[in-house]
Amino acid sequence: MKEQIICSTCGTYYPADQAPKLCVICSDERQYIPETGQSWTKTQDLHRKHSIKLNKLHERLYEIEINPIFAIGQRALLVLSDEGNVLWDCIPMLDELTIEFIRSKGGLKAIAFSHPHYYSNMNEWASVFDCPVFIHNNDAEHIMVKGPHIHLWQGDELPLWDGMKILLIGGHFEGSSILHVPFLSKEGTIICGDTLFLSPSKKHFSVFRSFPNRIPLSQPEMLRVKQRFESIPFDSFYGYIKTQNLQENVKAVFAGSMKKNLS
Ligand SMILES: [Zn+2]
Ligand SMILES: [Zn+2]
Repeated sequence: MKEQIICSTCGTYYPADQAPKLCVICSDERQYIPETGQSWTKTQDLHRKHSIKLNKLHERLYEIEINPIFAIGQRALLVLSDEGNVLWDCIPMLDELTIEFIRSKGGLKAIAFSHPHYYSNMNEWASVFDCPVFIHNNDAEHIMVKGPHIHLWQGDELPLWDGMKILLIGGHFEGSSILHVPFLSKEGTIICGDTLFLSPSKKHFSVFRSFPNRIPLSQPEMLRVKQRFESIPFDSFYGYIKTQNLQENVKAVFAGSMKKNLS
């Protein structure tokens, strides 16, 4: 594989010979270049300093994270399904143990994304598991490295299999999406990335255009996001990091939060 460099702030991969001076994803108003300046790392350094942790959350759901935390620090979520497994979002690292584990569970039928902050080394994941990567067409301009596995989808939803669907929400990014899974809970589970952000109190969901820079959504956009979620049945939520799991009163917490977000 061609040599690649990785943005230390967001985990986006670039071919070493075509890397921009500043990471394009971090230069966007939704991210940031640190005060200390742009810094890059390489795969071998990542593997020297970090490992991958897999945690079981449910018979059919595993979280995959980098330990200690690297860049944005998001987890990927592996949904095990009869007709084929889905990996929701990526972490910017992949190792043999993780590959072996996922293969032992039947491999991947697809990788799908909430939004561009987690594209990481998606082309490597997709080529190892020989599966498509679903990205909403609204976010196509934020794909830094194109690859043969990437499938752009359009519209409000993309039905997968076993009742799973990718749903376009918008808000944080024009293509921000969630995975809806009907078989992990009674009413439905939303696997969300940071399309919704669950606060540490677990009593409030926020939606921002930029989370690190605290750029709010406009009120009409917030209202649109609220109405979009109101049309989706769910009683279980998994956000972008391990502290963002919620299985109780999820819709009530959502409704209360939206009242505050719109007041
Ligand atoms: Zn970056
Ligand atoms: Zn984000």
